[in-house]
Amino acid sequence: MVRFIFVTGGVVSSLGKGIASASIATLLQSRGYKVRIRKLDPYLNIDPGTMNPYEHGEVYVTEDGAETDLDLGHYERFTEINSKKSDNITTGKIYQNIITKERNGDYKGSTVQIIPHVTDEIKKFITSDLTNEDFVICEIGGTVGDIESLPFLEAIRQYSNEVGSKNCLFVHLTLVPYIKSAAELKTKPTQHSVKELRSIGIQPDMILCRSESLIPNEEKAKIALFCNVEKTNVFQSIDVKSIYEVPIKYQEEGLDKKILDHFKIVNKKNPKLNNWKAFNKKLNNKKNNNVKISIVGKYTHLKDAYKSLNEALIHASVYNNINLDLNWIESSEIKNLKDLKHKLEKTNGILIPGGFGKRGVEGKILSIQLARVKKIPFFGICFGMQISIIELARNLLGLKDSNSTELSKTKNPVVCLMEEWVKEKKIFKGEKNKIGGSMRLGSYPAKIKKDSLLYKIYGNKSLIHERHRHRYEVNSSYKSMLEKKGVIFSANSPDGKLPEAIELKNHPWFVGVQFHPELKSRPFSPHKIFISFIEAAIKNKKLNT
Ligand code: GLN
Repeated sequence: MVRFIFVTGGVVSSLGKGIASASIATLLQSRGYKVRIRKLDPYLNIDPGTMNPYEHGEVYVTEDGAETDLDLGHYERFTEINSKKSDNITTGKIYQNIITKERNGDYKGSTVQIIPHVTDEIKKFITSDLTNEDFVICEIGGTVGDIESLPFLEAIRQYSNEVGSKNCLFVHLTLVPYIKSAAELKTKPTQHSVKELRSIGIQPDMILCRSESLIPNEEKAKIALFCNVEKTNVFQSIDVKSIYEVPIKYQEEGLDKKILDHFKIVNKKNPKLNNWKAFNKKLNNKKNNNVKISIVGKYTHLKDAYKSLNEALIHASVYNNINLDLNWIESSEIKNLKDLKHKLEKTNGILIPGGFGKRGVEGKILSIQLARVKKIPFFGICFGMQISIIELARNLLGLKDSNSTELSKTKNPVVCLMEEWVKEKKIFKGEKNKIGGSMRLGSYPAKIKKDSLLYKIYGNKSLIHERHRHRYEVNSSYKSMLEKKGVIFSANSPDGKLPEAIELKNHPWFVGVQFHPELKSRPFSPHKIFISFIEAAIKNKKLNT
């Protein structure tokens, strides 16, 4: 019988519900259980695909092509289980389903209401598409008290009532702030948040208290008393240096054991989490080897916008045993070459991540030119690869007006929509309706050219599968011209029509990929391209010192 663990949050947002949910799943997984994590997002968008990364952070893409909340990235990195479309729902999607049903007459004339129709739809989502999981962890987005989250909380309350409280566990994550002037930790916000939750009919079974310092037992006892939970079910969620320490901390406090106790499950396993401990040890062990990677992007002021990228770089740097010195450069603030050189001082590798739209593109082109000419390792991801094609066409082929049709009208559309090819080049005749102008989303195969750098990176593999999220493609009509100038199209779609990766002949490490390898990097299996990029940056550093 599948058991449900519902994770809610209170007091403020950004307390780390996603990491808490992922950690709970990891701990149960390490005791041998099959787990699944799902995210219920109360906002009205159908999915975060259209949201500004500044508002919502990165859009994480699953194997099966769903554009989802960035927390799903944490779930995958922690559990190494691929999420599916059916693991993320929003109020927008729930309402879309309901309105479609209403228009189809499925409600047979009844008045469509939040209770039971919306709550039923939420319960259906929670319980659908399961495959013999022992535990399903459902994270409810937002903060208790938000208007939007009410139907979700009502739905999980109803569900627990239906299947019995012994098959459900409510975990509430709150903040216990430290007030400097009083030199005290304050439990009142937690009390209020739990009061709010109880007024909706949910009594939390466990409280995880996020705090910057250790919560003394008396404070825990106070929380237990006021919030009506067992004293041993009040856990500390202390600030840690890295998210990868969180499962270890929770285990030290016995969180997994108490979860199993709640479900009356006896489990004799005593997982050591050795791989997690070893990873953290390597991460925290200060080396005398600093490698500087500059990321030239558009949303550099909000690190959440590049969450998976950041994590993939951390994984590869731990693997290569270096201290990662990340230099975030806002591309729209690059004034000229002199300014760029100053911003890139002592850089051992330049990375241009995925992106959309015009802002800051010229600064990115300049960075690529510098990386190419000065032989600095360069890694272009998705938009980063597309822009590197623009740079190469402009400066190697002399086609100065080369551009992507996403950015400008041009006589040399080196990057364009597939249907534009259909119209102008007739390359994709007959395939228009298949792919059209929609996004290429999720996992696609690519064939790697033998003897390329990429072939070596993937361990002599000739067929790979990577995740995509883009609308535009590199225009292969320019392929042979670029090849003559030393550009290698090191991976292509299996039919050979879509360029998937490029590299440069006379350069130590210049790789552009149309896909997003950062989405598949895991702490215990860093992505091979990131490992190789960091290795190239280490070599660059050695050469320059
Ligand atoms: N804007 C580009 C496109 O739509 C690249 C997208 C991306 O980098 N994810 O094709």
